[in-house]
Amino acid sequence: MAWLGLTLLAALGWWRLGAARVLLALAVLWAGWVLAALWAGGLDERATGRLALGAVLLPVGAYALLIGALRRRAARAATPRPGEIGARPGPAARLAAPAQPPAPAPDIAPPADPEGPLTDPELDRYARHIVLRELGGAGQRRLRAARVLVVGAGGLGAPVLSYLAAAGVGRITVADDDTVGLSNLQRQVIFATADIGRPKVRAAADAMARLNPHVAVTPLARRITADDAALVGAHDLVLDGTDSFAARAAVNAACVAAGVPLIAGSIAQWEGQVALYDPARGGPCMACLFPAAPAPGLALSCAEAGVVGALPGVVGSMMAIEAIKHLSGIPDSGAGSGLRGRMVLFDGLWGETRSIATRARPGCAVCGGTG
Ligand SMILES: [Zn+2]
Repeated sequence: MAWLGLTLLAALGWWRLGAARVLLALAVLWAGWVLAALWAGGLDERATGRLALGAVLLPVGAYALLIGALRRRAARAATPRPGEIGARPGPAARLAAPAQPPAPAPDIAPPADPEGPLTDPELDRYARHIVLRELGGAGQRRLRAARVLVVGAGGLGAPVLSYLAAAGVGRITVADDDTVGLSNLQRQVIFATADIGRPKVRAAADAMARLNPHVAVTPLARRITADDAALVGAHDLVLDGTDSFAARAAVNAACVAAGVPLIAGSIAQWEGQVALYDPARGGPCMACLFPAAPAPGLALSCAEAGVVGALPGVVGSMMAIEAIKHLSGIPDSGAGSGLRGRMVLFDGLWGETRSIATRARPGCAVCGGTG
């Protein structure tokens, strides 16, 4: 009867707890029983038989479990998932595939050691990055160790913040002094209707935390000025999606003073542009290309001229891609090319994209034009 009860308990436990835990419990029970029998005065013939049975069955069970886990891991690594057709599963893919069905990832803060190995939940979350030959585990660790300042949590900020948080950029500071308005929601898709009236940086930080608890977000409910070189200097990269010339010029000046690269995007109506300004490492700053504010009426804001809602989605996503490339060191490795010394122009009305070369302007009042 005792064996029957134990078998039923084991079957129930196997179903509810999983094979590994039940096997461990049986091993503990068996070892305890052997010790108790020895304590009570040695082993009779029947007890010796049970001892031998356990000594055979438990290693066999452990071996079967190990083989099963290895087979599941191999099957998951070898099977392309939807959207992965054409991907080449390499060692990184096998590393990324969990042996067991993924358990809900715990809501944990970024690891204390940003240079340490990626945790199992991180390997699973970033698996599609890790299988990219150009990015891989090393690039993902660089993203995690990166510190990025995003200026402007509006139309461009929405995709920039969403994709950088989703990509696992470890520390993101977001600066904006505005609150969410009803007319923002046509394109600023990081916000929901319930966020109307909230500070944009708070609502954006909440959305990013929901998206990826591994990312540390610092909301800064103010504008960035030309005197913010110290703040900018605490970051590896700045992304600017503000929509006024004065704000953009201030961010550019702070980046030049701090020697920090700047990815700037801008949009109007159906057109947008993206550039990487990094005069400390070659190429122009923004003021080399746009030394003075446009004449009144020539450069209308989105509120005045209008903007198609999906346009910031395109241009902001291009900014996020350039940031991911830059932070993970892809252009420096010779794979692809960044936007230092180039500007990409997108025309949504005609469905066209083109790229133009940009050069430092000798005598630039901001960077000196020596880049
Ligand atoms: Zn310049």
